[in-house]
Amino acid sequence: MTLEASPSSAPARMTAPQIITELPGPRARAMIARDAAVVSPSLTRAYPLVAESGRGYVVTDVDGNRFLDFAAGIAVCSTGHGHPDVVAAIKEQADRLIHIAATDFYEPRYLELTEHLARIAPFDEPARVFLTNSGTEAVEGAIKLARYHTHRPGLIAFEGAFHGRTMGALSLTNSKIKQRAGFGPLLPMVHHSSFPRVRAWREGSGGDGSAELEFLHKSILGRLLAPRDVAAIVIEPIQGEGGYFPAPAAFLRGLREICDEHGIMLIADEIQSGMGRTGRWWAIEHSGVEPDIVTTAKGIASGMPLGAFIARDSVMSWPPGAHGSTFAGNPVCAAAGAATLKLIEGGLIENAARMGARLRAGIERVAAEHGGVRDVRGMGLMIGVEFASHEAADAVEQAAFQRGLLVLECGEAAIRLCPPLIVDEEAVDTAVALFGEAMAAGVRPTEGVEEVGG
Ligand code: PLP
Repeated sequence: MTLEASPSSAPARMTAPQIITELPGPRARAMIARDAAVVSPSLTRAYPLVAESGRGYVVTDVDGNRFLDFAAGIAVCSTGHGHPDVVAAIKEQADRLIHIAATDFYEPRYLELTEHLARIAPFDEPARVFLTNSGTEAVEGAIKLARYHTHRPGLIAFEGAFHGRTMGALSLTNSKIKQRAGFGPLLPMVHHSSFPRVRAWREGSGGDGSAELEFLHKSILGRLLAPRDVAAIVIEPIQGEGGYFPAPAAFLRGLREICDEHGIMLIADEIQSGMGRTGRWWAIEHSGVEPDIVTTAKGIASGMPLGAFIARDSVMSWPPGAHGSTFAGNPVCAAAGAATLKLIEGGLIENAARMGARLRAGIERVAAEHGGVRDVRGMGLMIGVEFASHEAADAVEQAAFQRGLLVLECGEAAIRLCPPLIVDEEAVDTAVALFGEAMAAGVRPTEGVEEVGG
């Protein structure tokens, strides 16, 4: 399917964002006050959006304001909001069977989805799949599998990594101190090595990750954690929460070599970067490197809670009872996942590559016009725009919201653009124009310019 060729299943067309109240509007303000009284204060709402409905790449708030959604619920709504095929799959499945527990029983939607995931796994060897309820649960499972398979305890992750918030995944997370503070002790024998945070303008001039590979060899594997004690090296092929930094291909190849030499599992965490977002099914495919285990979630089911870890057949050799999950791969979520994968395969991967190139060119253009941007980087529809300071990024994020564009921060001073994969030229061009306006309002033109090179 291409978007144009299948009008019956195409999402509703975009109309321009429309702000009709002050933001937040009166209904939003009232709900935010109620929310403040009962909801865990650990949540971090970036700006006061109170979402009521969504269609395609448009979200409408409780006061009737319409926003262009370039956040996609943190890179989740891959097929847009309320794609008719996904909604139909969810409704049909809810009518048929809501729950059965795939840990104990067989079920057709579970089978259909796992077969599809096994088919697209980023390695040559046959694959096996374990479905989960979330990204962090997928990472937990991948950690357990790597330990089980290698009989080793140690794990290596990277500075700036985000792998989730449950205790194993949190032990790998190295993004912001507030995510770890107060929760220790975490898993033992976990070490974080340097991640090559290559700015786009350094890509062709030494930003290949060789210094970081040497650090891993010498400082981590040479002094802290013997290779024979390492179960897995866990890496986001594009660091997400950490700032939308693509790992250089040479760096990923170097990790593969270390893993091959020492019998270490290479785990690619593609929870944010996978599912077609970068113009391939998996971001790691751009490097030609094959992992042993890959984790996915977010975009896999267009917003229904679902994740997976997928491993080489020879790696996922644990016995019945070694791992399970009551809700994971629930029939309704699995049906949404199966419908989502079909749509991604039917044209959205190519669309992500095309629209990603257009978006990046547009952002580079407005960045050059307005100044204040240190770097524009990423792949496909996973684009990071780095400013001179967190305050500058925050100001642009807030100004974008006021203009009807939803974006989210990441890293120390960046904004991520991760729209649904269904975006078209109209949405991309509108987003670029609004982002330019937000930059003009949010950043002083000279901010950051003197810092380029850092
Ligand atoms: N891994 C990566 C790369 C992520 O981006 C995230 C979420 O942002 C996670 C793991 C955790 O996923 P979840 O929030 O579904 O637990």
